[in-house]
Amino acid sequence: MAAVTFLGAVGSVTGSKFLLESETGSVLVDCGLYQGPKDLRKRNWDVLPLDLESLDSVVVTHAHVDHIGYTPRLVGTGFSGPIHATTNTVNLARIILPDSGHIHEEEAKFANKRGYSKHHPALPLYTEADARKMLPQFQNHEFGEPFEAAPGIQCSFRRAGHILGSASVLAEFDDGKRVVVSGDLGPGDHPLLLPAEPLPECDVVLCESTYGNRPRPDLDVTARLGDYVEDTISRGGVVLIPAFAVDRTEIVLWHLAQLQRSGRIPRVPVYLDSPMASAALAVYREAARSGAGDLRDSVSKELMFEPLEVRESRTVEDSKALNRMRGPLIIISASGMATGGRILHHLASRLGSSRNSVILVGFQAPGTRGRALADGAQSLKFFGSYHPVRASVHEIGLSAHADQNELVNWLQSGPTSDHTVFTVHGEEDASASLAAAADAAGLFAVQPRMGERILV
Ligand SMILES: [Zn+2]
Repeated sequence: MAAVTFLGAVGSVTGSKFLLESETGSVLVDCGLYQGPKDLRKRNWDVLPLDLESLDSVVVTHAHVDHIGYTPRLVGTGFSGPIHATTNTVNLARIILPDSGHIHEEEAKFANKRGYSKHHPALPLYTEADARKMLPQFQNHEFGEPFEAAPGIQCSFRRAGHILGSASVLAEFDDGKRVVVSGDLGPGDHPLLLPAEPLPECDVVLCESTYGNRPRPDLDVTARLGDYVEDTISRGGVVLIPAFAVDRTEIVLWHLAQLQRSGRIPRVPVYLDSPMASAALAVYREAARSGAGDLRDSVSKELMFEPLEVRESRTVEDSKALNRMRGPLIIISASGMATGGRILHHLASRLGSSRNSVILVGFQAPGTRGRALADGAQSLKFFGSYHPVRASVHEIGLSAHADQNELVNWLQSGPTSDHTVFTVHGEEDASASLAAAADAAGLFAVQPRMGERILV
């Protein structure tokens, strides 16, 4: 027997959780948090329909919170087995999970202060200490190295090209059945990472569909970034780039380095002002030094970003000192959607001048300050007061995901095409659209229902 149960990321892009069962064992592939609107986040408090005592292990595809962020909660509610991941997913998890715990504590504190939680007192889903305590449960694996995830289920990781360490999981059952969980698949042109490995022979594939309903805009990202940066620099202004701490920061630095190398933009100082982004950058650099299997050749040099001068602000004082500096300069800071973090005090001091610019380089969820800026807000509220938006605001669609064509190509990249495709990890429209596109390409694709169990 081989069975798959869809326990999350059905009709949404967060909360990935898929249970694989053999006759004698079970493994949870991905253990992600729900993020975004409140009704989704409330699901993080639901009790999973799982017997945690009999769950043999967890296997995670990559270090994004919507794929690993539920692991401390799973451990907190009784799971004591191993959590398998690639080496660099574990290295990034050491940064991301304690930070996630810290955010939950801050949210609980805030809810208590405002008295808006239905729990009294509001409790964090897990704390920073909870996250640190469970890190030893992670077990490292190299790409392609098979390991027994549960009795009767052997797993291995295959490159997915999405962020450092990201992988698809191939699960081979004792009865010969083979299931692939795609994880998140990167765009084929990630400047630092090799593209996803072709789909191996399998009976069933669970495929992400974040961009299942659209092509990526065919933009020359480097040139557009160059235009915006050059404009700002020429008027002596400051370029603010809110960036997600992991991977996006490295890609932005890579583009800026290209622009300086080619003489397209002048040499101005670039400040990286986010402790988490600095920690993640150190993981990327160490991965390059040690020759991680998912990095492109020649990347160790690229990760020094020459001739860019990257100055990392370590302390809060370093960060605040940036407010007193005159342009031209570039500041990259988190969070990527300006929902919190050091980017806020930079916005507070720079938004009011038309000399400056803000360049948004990632998805901006509805309801965030980043979304408001992208939509042309005239003012932004934070730190209790309104700030006028006089700086110019630009949006560049840097994507860490494969688009519809790339996903269909990947689904057809295996030795055969008779596997059943289940489209997951996408909004309803995106998952339906990818299923239709896969069908049109001669594959058999289905949109699963939440909680559904299928036999392979
Ligand atoms: Zn991801």
